[in-house]
Amino acid sequence: MKKIAFVSPECVACGCCVKVCPKGAITVPKGIRAEVNEQLCIGCTRCAKVCPAQVITMIAREDMYEKAQAVV
Ligand code: SF4
Ligand code: SF4
Repeated sequence: MKKIAFVSPECVACGCCVKVCPKGAITVPKGIRAEVNEQLCIGCTRCAKVCPAQVITMIAREDMYEKAQAVV
């Protein structure tokens, strides 16, 4: 199964990932921290490759929910 992008809390909201995403799946709401729309993400890894802070990791889709809860 394809992985999806996960953004850790250390995101500096630079917006680099937003520009390279072919699906518009990653956004920086209110300029605080990037968020991934798991419905749109196709796991292409482009965002992870350009992130200057290296805070994007590719994770299994089913792990997304556990991680999201841990961040909140
Ligand atoms: S992995 Fe690809 S599709 Fe998913 S958020 Fe990153 S750039 Fe967009
Ligand atoms: S490229 Fe990295 S640091 Fe910049 S907004 Fe995206 S996730 Fe955050």
